[in-house]
Amino acid sequence: MPFLVRINHETCNGNGECFNSCPAGVFEASHDGKCWVGGEKSMEGNLQKGSNEDLCVGCLVCVEVCPTKSITVTEK
Ligand code: SF4
Ligand code: SF4
Repeated sequence: MPFLVRINHETCNGNGECFNSCPAGVFEASHDGKCWVGGEKSMEGNLQKGSNEDLCVGCLVCVEVCPTKSITVTEK
């Protein structure tokens, strides 16, 4: 089941909990301290084919650990 994983970068505080907790390695940490879904940055929100998002298993751990409720995971 493919999933859409999105981070609200307006509210993300860059604590890296999603990066540290995701069992599938979907997130990437950037030099500015914010976390991104792999591939997200280069396409300004439109993920490239084959990005880290494709590895998501829908466990929702990231949603649970994010202190600012900045992550949404939905079925494609
Ligand atoms: S867990 Fe939430 S607040 Fe922390 S880096 Fe990830 S998206 Fe940002
Ligand atoms: S739902 Fe699970 S596998 Fe998908 S991005 Fe979040 S922590 Fe990673």
